[in-house]
Amino acid sequence: MSEHSRPMSCLEFQEKLPELIASGESIAHHPHYQNCELCRALLADLETIAEAARQLLPVVEPPDDLWSQIETAIREEENSPEKG
Ligand SMILES: [Zn+2]
Repeated sequence: MSEHSRPMSCLEFQEKLPELIASGESIAHHPHYQNCELCRALLADLETIAEAARQLLPVVEPPDDLWSQIETAIREEENSPEKG
């Protein structure tokens, strides 16, 4: 009585993809991925899209908040009383 004995359908695999990606598991080692040309092609497409998106996105700058937090931390360091 093993649930894993029956092959996964493409739909089931694709529904699990976000989970697999989020869990950090290697999709390349997934049995369905290894046996299914369709899903391999799909993932190759997805990777191409993700790569393109990464290149299109502007470089993320630290938010203003972060800088003021750093400034505050530095000031507190300088003003720390009774040093020495
Ligand atoms: Zn498939």
